[in-house]
Amino acid sequence: MTAKLLSTGFDPQVGLDKAKIELMTISTFISSMCFDIIHKFDDPKNPILPIPTAGTDGRHIIYDPNFFEKLTQPQRIGLIAHEVWHVAWGHLTRRGDRDPKIWNYAGDYVINLMLTQQGFILPETDLIDSQYRNMSTEEVYNKLKEKQDAGGKLPQSNMIGDILDKKLTEEEKKDLDDKVADMVSRAKVNTELNSPKEWGNMPSDVKRMFEELLEPQLNWKQILMQYLNEFIKDDYSWQRPNKRYLPNLYLPTQYSPTIGDVAIAIDTSGSISDEELKEILSEVEGIRTTFNPTSLRMFGADSCIHDEYEVDRYTDICSLKFGGGGGTSFHPVLDKLKKDPPRLLIYFTDLWAEHITDEPGFDTMWICNSDHEEQGIGHTIYIK
Ligand SMILES: [Zn+2]
Repeated sequence: MTAKLLSTGFDPQVGLDKAKIELMTISTFISSMCFDIIHKFDDPKNPILPIPTAGTDGRHIIYDPNFFEKLTQPQRIGLIAHEVWHVAWGHLTRRGDRDPKIWNYAGDYVINLMLTQQGFILPETDLIDSQYRNMSTEEVYNKLKEKQDAGGKLPQSNMIGDILDKKLTEEEKKDLDDKVADMVSRAKVNTELNSPKEWGNMPSDVKRMFEELLEPQLNWKQILMQYLNEFIKDDYSWQRPNKRYLPNLYLPTQYSPTIGDVAIAIDTSGSISDEELKEILSEVEGIRTTFNPTSLRMFGADSCIHDEYEVDRYTDICSLKFGGGGGTSFHPVLDKLKKDPPRLLIYFTDLWAEHITDEPGFDTMWICNSDHEEQGIGHTIYIK
């Protein structure tokens, strides 16, 4: 859906883009989440939103264009952050059988308190109350429910109704939870890496929530992200010039770490399905944006190398083609890389091939989609 110019001449898309750009300078976490969420404008003639403000279904954030126009730039930023936190906090799937309206109030209280504490400016709302400080959404919900059951009145606010919670089946819920966990995991790594201070300042209950969200259901993508994060941190000193030996050099304070030269190999012997290949390629996209490799080489190989790509920041990774279908051997790729070693090779394979015991001279990570035993070298992450 493309936003149309309003009759006032306001272009909502331009307003949104400006807010998103400024948000990048304010919060790495929220900006990173923003990249994974689709933002669109509602059609006031045929609205999806129950109230013409904004709302999220966990995958999209939908804005009413007229409401959006009336906000100041800082309020627009605050609104985006507010909606992103509904997603990050799992408000779409955590409600259970609770009353949707009160749940929405509770979520808003928790988010608004945190955001105002961090200096964000929000659209006008009466859902800020310091008595709910340091409470989880569930705790605030219980307080509000008690109040309502005792005949008390709940406040009114424009923002209510912005959790667009359709009745999800268990499967849809799980899908959404997985998607959100992936987004949060990527945003967390991005933040730890690029704005350690922002990560340090995250409220402890938020960090705890993320741990709970990520720990029980770590999938291979999250394990890989964490591994790469550790990998880059371990070598931090190696990448950063030692100040003592460079007395006359100006050292920039803003330092963007890189993971160095990365090679990716995909076993195209037929053991990887099209669906898996799609997932792998989108994960490689994620590695490129998050870990900023100095160079990124990609290989498709079975018993020989069929495809080889030098990926730069303009390459559309998801459209690269990988052919093959023969037997599997790891030697073609390993031998080729020995001549021009990367820092890290990530090999997607079912591991059904010769057992490798010779250290190739670079780190190797096997992402395995079978239950085959580990290789003789490197680390293994199992997809299933
Ligand atoms: Zn809300």
